Parts: sequence; structure tokens; C-alpha cells
Amino acid sequence: MTADVHDQLSRPLQDLRISIMDRCNFRCTYCMPKEIFGDDYVFLPEESLLSFEEITRAAEQFAALGVKKIRLTGGEPLLRKDVPELIASLRTIEGIEDIALTTNAVMLPKQAKPLYEAGLERVNVSLDALHTDVFQEMSGRKTSPNAVLRGIDAAIEAGLGVKVNMVVRKGVNDEEVIPMARYCKEKGLTLRFIEFMDVGQTNGWDFSQVVSKKELHERVSQIAPLEALERNYFGEVASRYRYRDSDVEVGFISSVTETFCGSCTRARLSADGKLFTCLFSESGSDLRAVMRDGATDGQIHDWIRAVWGKREDRYSELRTEESARNRKKIEMSYIGG
Ligand code: SAM
Ligand code: SF4
Ligand code: SF4
Repeated sequence: MTADVHDQLSRPLQDLRISIMDRCNFRCTYCMPKEIFGDDYVFLPEESLLSFEEITRAAEQFAALGVKKIRLTGGEPLLRKDVPELIASLRTIEGIEDIALTTNAVMLPKQAKPLYEAGLERVNVSLDALHTDVFQEMSGRKTSPNAVLRGIDAAIEAGLGVKVNMVVRKGVNDEEVIPMARYCKEKGLTLRFIEFMDVGQTNGWDFSQVVSKKELHERVSQIAPLEALERNYFGEVASRYRYRDSDVEVGFISSVTETFCGSCTRARLSADGKLFTCLFSESGSDLRAVMRDGATDGQIHDWIRAVWGKREDRYSELRTEESARNRKKIEMSYIGG
């Protein structure tokens, strides 16, 4: 075994992302383009989704293997019924210190309070533009960005921590970088710019559409100079900065131009119970089958450890235009980001 491969294997398992719903009420061009995810697209049937009991049982074994943070995602996770029940159940797991959720926020005005009361601590809200036309072009829906802004306000009012995620696609929404940064700074919200990634096979990605972290940093520095902050923990994916004239933070997730596979500590569980060790995987390992075949907790534990132990993923370090185009990667709406 080379030293390099050994380093890859030694990355600890710290974070778990669980997709709980592959459907979505948006059709973001960079995630679920409507030409592919149209009315006749076949989503997962209800019975194939992991139940809340199955998710909790799996999460207990991930926690026993070192996972401290769980993030619920999708598709749109809030399209799943009774999410507060799942949060309350995950809260009971020993070792889980942090539960968060990523959402497009349109359902937060109704759901923020019950989610908070069930034990959710934080939400990451996706918002790619404040200008209505640009927002609609990015989200693929005739919705107003006000629907998302109302969701952000509801989350703040309920007591949830809020960060905003903005995917930047060159020539589509990059004019919105400064307005979004100003909006978040004024509201005291951390904004995280995400480089447009080649997840899945349907979003027509190529390098020319990526606005790099370097360029984003330069643009945001026009508002106020930025000061780099220490990372909070090993494996943190955003590089964090603070505006020098305030305490507000801004972050950059540079998965394309400054890769971070060497510190990737994240496992992903799809809504139908497949375990993925990389966002750019072609296939996952079937944890649902293991559980439904009657495995004991100990067997589930050993199975997860064996899958993680074999991991050699470093897709972003090796990415080429060719791999971006031809590798049969799973879709973002299925695996949840
Ligand atoms: N529907 C929820 C939302 O949009 O927040 C949760 C699921 S979404 C797949 C999770 C995150 O992935 C969002 O922040 C979204 O912006 C991001 N995302 C989706 N496709 C992406 C891509 N091609 N490149 C970079 N980020 C992407
Ligand atoms: Fe839906 Fe989120 Fe994907 Fe947009 S990014 S289509 S809101 S899952
Ligand atoms: Fe982790 Fe795969 Fe992303 Fe690298 S490409 S950081 S291994 S998910």
C-alpha cells in the first residue's frame, strides 16, 4: 500500500448526511434541470425510502463509529412528512452533538418552530439570487425569492441558526454575488459561496461555468476587507473569513479549484438506504438490504466500518473535463449534497 493510499484510508468518519426525500419543489438548473426531471421523471417509490426507525437505527451505528454531526438533506427534506419526529428520535442518540438540515426554505414558515422544538439546531438555506428573474432562472420555478426570504426570517424567529448557501454559475447568477453578500452581512448571516460542481450527469457542467473561490473572494472584498479565520474542526469544508469591519462571517466551498479530499470525513446515506463514501460515486453499498435482511446492530456496525475502511475516494483531486462528462455519477438531488 502506498503512503498516499494509506492517508486516504485513515480519514476518520465524522459527519453523516442523510437524504430523506429525493423529490423537490424546485428545479434548480444546476441540480434538477427540468428537461430531465420533468413530469414523467420516476422518483423513488414510498416503500423504498428508509423509515424513520431504520434511519435512527443506522445513525446509532454511525455514531458508535465516530459520527458527531448529522445533516438531513434531499431533494427537499421538508417534503417528507413529520420531519420533527425524526429530529427528536436522532436527538436521543449518544454521541450526536449537532443536527442540521439543508433546505430551500419555502416550507420553513410553517415548519421552523416544530423543527426547533424537536431539537434541530441549524438550517442551511439555499438562495442563489435576490433578483427575481435571476432567482427564477436558477431555481427553475416561477417562485419569488421572497418565499425563501420569508423562510429565513421564520427560522431566525424560531431560534434556529441560519447560514445561506449560494451556488455561483458564471453568466447566470454571478452578478448577484455582491447583492447577496450585502444582504447577508446586513442581516448578520453567514453566506457560503459554493463553486458550481459536476455532480451527477445532467447539469451540463464544464469548467468555464465555475467562478473560482479566488475570484469570489476578490469580489466580496470590495464590500470590506476579509480576514481569514481558523477552521473550527478537521474536515470543515468551507474556508472561513470575517469582514474586518464587523463580526459577520463569509465562507467559500471550493470543491473544484481548491480541493479537500484529504480531509473528507463525510459519509452519505441516500433516501433508499445506499451508503456512499463520495459525492461523486457511481454506486453505493446497500445498507437497507443489510438491515431488512435481519442484521443485528453489531453486524450493521461492522458492515459500515468495512465499507468506510475500503474507501479510497479523491474524485475532486483527479477531476478532468472527461471524468466530469463521462463518469456515471449519482445525481445531487438523490444524494443530497
Ligand atoms: N433542497 C435542499 C437545498 O437546496 O438546500 C437540499 C438539497 S440540495 C441538493 C443541497 C445543496 O446542494 C444546496 O445548497 C445546493 O445549492 C447544492 N447543490 C446542488 N447542486 C449543486 C451543484 N451542481 N454544485 C454545487 N452545489 C450544488
Ligand atoms: Fe431542489 Fe435543492 Fe436541488 Fe434546488 S438544489 S433542485 S432546491 S434539491
Ligand atoms: Fe470527499 Fe469525494 Fe468530495 Fe473528495 S470528491 S471531498 S472524497 S466527497
